[in-house]
Amino acid sequence: MNHPYGRCENCGNRLYEHVDGGYRCPNCETLYSQDTIEQSPSV
Ligand SMILES: [Zn+2]
Repeated sequence: MNHPYGRCENCGNRLYEHVDGGYRCPNCETLYSQDTIEQSPSV
């Protein structure tokens, strides 16, 4: 099972949901759009 937020392609850190939508890596501050992640929501 993968983490729902995936991992950063740059540093491998876990991604966190961003207020504007999409996800952000708190380590290197890379932003990912929700389209980029593309994973089924685990509600
Ligand atoms: Zn990163």
